[in-house]
Amino acid sequence: MSMHRSRTSAGARQDVPVKRASPVKAKAGLYSVVQRQFGRAANYLEMDPGIRAILGSTMNEIGVHFPVKMDDGRVEIFTGYRVQHNNALGPFKGGVRFHPSVDIDEVRALASWMTWKTSLVGVPFGGAKGGIKIDPAKYSENELERITRRFTFALGSNIGPEYDIPAPDVNTNARIMAWILDTYLSLMPSPERQASTHVVTGKPVETGGSLGRESATGRGVVFTIEEWALNNGLPLEDATCFIQGFGNVGSWAARLMKKRGARLLAVEDMFGAIRSSHGIDPDDLHEHVSRKGSILGFPGAEEIGHESFLRTKADIFIPAAMESQITAETAPLLQVKLVAEGANGPTDPDGDAVLQRRGIHLIPDILCNSGGVIVSYFEWLQNKRGEYWEEDEVNEKLQKRIVAAYRRVAHRASRRPWEPGGEARLDWRMAAYAVALSRLGTAYKERGIFP
Ligand code: GLU
Repeated sequence: MSMHRSRTSAGARQDVPVKRASPVKAKAGLYSVVQRQFGRAANYLEMDPGIRAILGSTMNEIGVHFPVKMDDGRVEIFTGYRVQHNNALGPFKGGVRFHPSVDIDEVRALASWMTWKTSLVGVPFGGAKGGIKIDPAKYSENELERITRRFTFALGSNIGPEYDIPAPDVNTNARIMAWILDTYLSLMPSPERQASTHVVTGKPVETGGSLGRESATGRGVVFTIEEWALNNGLPLEDATCFIQGFGNVGSWAARLMKKRGARLLAVEDMFGAIRSSHGIDPDDLHEHVSRKGSILGFPGAEEIGHESFLRTKADIFIPAAMESQITAETAPLLQVKLVAEGANGPTDPDGDAVLQRRGIHLIPDILCNSGGVIVSYFEWLQNKRGEYWEEDEVNEKLQKRIVAAYRRVAHRASRRPWEPGGEARLDWRMAAYAVALSRLGTAYKERGIFP
């Protein structure tokens, strides 16, 4: 949604007297967050040191600098990455993001989370992530197309339908996937082109995309919330929520929560936050954002600061923007029963500790936002088999898979105490890691290590 926000509208907002929200910029050292989470889980599982070393590092890291001609004839050099973390369970899989915060550290972290995510939900993929360090709002559509195509060209055979399959992520969408597809296919011998459309997922439906892929991540978030609500005696028709981020994930989650009867009290995007105690209609807000490029100025809602946004009293908070938003400083402000992580890595380990101490439940990212990659798997399968599935079929299959993963995590969390003889149960992030890492560990044990 923020892709075509013009430089002027972004600049003009700077004098708006609200405390600036911070979902724009991720904190440094994200890969160390993954290492801390992974280390805790590996200790808990008493993981074999060899397997621990393998999973604790990435497999391939591709960094490219590439030139692109701008509309005014200037040549600009861009930097892009693709990090392939692990492919023990299948081809590398994960999105490509366009964002100023993209760097090797962030992409390493995001690639690792993809490995845990695909393993946890049982789709036959590994984990990867890519990105270009760029603020897409500063470029024209034609420039973005040339940047995307030249990045794809630079990646060359480092991606492929049975090797590494990109997908949308922050600030990228179906149209960008179509450019990646077209560039990749153009570089192939003609007879092989038709058999290679599954080199990327999240494509436009007409280009071989799957019905239901666009809404899949937000829909998955809501399926996991529904399951939690059922198990915790919260009728969603009486529930309240607030959401950080109103891009693909946040806006779909909001609109689908409305269908369950829940009331949306506040929303924040990169320009600021809004609140209305009567509730914000997410369909109207979606319409407003597609016209104005931001949630600000939405009729009937007041603008509030970042801290006051986080202090919103509600049942559920859905962070669906950037990483490291819930920390030792911000977690004490939350007044909710549940945090459902639509974003990747929105809570850091210190934030986790505070949530746990305060008894706030958590549906961790690798479970909560796995709907996207689950439906990416369905798209990949449809392409391979030459099939088109109905949207209802896609949504039903998604629900079945994500609820099954939810139950595996719930079971693991209740099964045995964190420490032998201890009282405390395994927290949900560690339970999700335990399920994901056990599956990867078993695969390595069975296959052994070459040579
Ligand atoms: N970018 C999404 C994620 O973080 C989707 C990845 C995919 O579909 O491959 O899970």
